[in-house]
Amino acid sequence: MNSYPVMIVDAIKSVLRDVEHPVSLHEPSFIGREWQLLKDCLDSGYVSSVGEYVDRFEQQLAQYLGVEHVVAVVNGTAALHVSLLLAGVKPGDEVIVPTLTFVATANAVSYCGAIPHFADSEQSTLGLDPAKLRQYLAGILQLDDGQWLNRNTGRRVAAIVPMHAFGHPVDMDALNEIAGLYGLPVVEDAAESLGSCYKDRMTGTLSSLAAISFNGNKILTTGGGGAIVTNDKVLAKRAKHLTTTAKMPHRWQISHDEVGFNYRMPNINAALGCAQLEQLAGFIERKRSLAETYKKTFSDVVGVDFFQEPEFACSNYWLNVLLLDEAKPEICNEVLEALNNESIMARPSWTLMHKLPMYQGCPRMDLSVAENLEQRLICIPSSPFLSQAGDHA
Ligand SMILES: *Cc1c(COP(=O)(O)O)cnc(C)c1O
Repeated sequence: MNSYPVMIVDAIKSVLRDVEHPVSLHEPSFIGREWQLLKDCLDSGYVSSVGEYVDRFEQQLAQYLGVEHVVAVVNGTAALHVSLLLAGVKPGDEVIVPTLTFVATANAVSYCGAIPHFADSEQSTLGLDPAKLRQYLAGILQLDDGQWLNRNTGRRVAAIVPMHAFGHPVDMDALNEIAGLYGLPVVEDAAESLGSCYKDRMTGTLSSLAAISFNGNKILTTGGGGAIVTNDKVLAKRAKHLTTTAKMPHRWQISHDEVGFNYRMPNINAALGCAQLEQLAGFIERKRSLAETYKKTFSDVVGVDFFQEPEFACSNYWLNVLLLDEAKPEICNEVLEALNNESIMARPSWTLMHKLPMYQGCPRMDLSVAENLEQRLICIPSSPFLSQAGDHA
């Protein structure tokens, strides 16, 4: 083994110090009122889709985000699915998504019967590259009967889904401007970026609809859970209706006026969410402090960069990212092996969406930046409690 992986292992060890091994990538912290609120929820008898914690969680999250409406659902994928439906995505449409993302972004498009159309990322945000997308769309879109069609496939392009990768905001002003040129709705996949700001606004509030995830590995967890976020009252009402089996309100009749989904977040998950939300500011503070320690530590290590938030952002640093100088899978694997051998969990990039068997045939632009990033990107331990180790480093 050459010394390069060893240098990276040593740098991370110096940050982690006496933390107990194995060190996972991201562990939830239950150091607030989780037990208390969960017990209260059980005592109330309302553990399922009805109960005051769901409403409370929605209100408190809306307040935190500075947004009008939040609809809590079973997971982030469901939130994306319903957001896309509400944005008007129809079977046979195409939806612009980054190829560098978690599979849920593309799957949600498929659930609508639509086809993901893969776009490239930029190195400074790890998210959609607005300048490249602008040029690309100008080349392929063609106005037909008031609709923008992909001239190569004849299909309507129906929406753009930026994803704030590892918590770092995409350049949303630039992206919203492009969407505006073609009247395309934007649905933010803010699954990973709860608490991250773009300029002075929270991610998840920068487009007409957004989806957030509260999976166990995210910055705030409800066990499993997600939320649809919007400022639009009509969309919020539709979101609630569609995610509660489209049941018509009535004191005793059970009737439904369309094919809805059983996507409502259970009360017991929302109770956990309420307790977690009280600690979110603290989690973000610790994660930013851990990132700062990694940044300082890696400033001395040659051949690798610690990924830093874009200049317009204040990121939650959900997962800390290293970018190796060289895009060589064998080097990336050596580093991953060296870290995992030391019981320090590290992960590569997601396999790019356009390489997955079910998405290989989908339309796409040149994806060379994402392809380069895929071979250089490594996620390293990022749990908020690790920052204590960093404090005295
Ligand atoms: C976690 C995640 C989702 C989906 O969230 P779930 O709650 O796991 O369904 C969607 N998109 C991205 C980018 C994610 O990281």
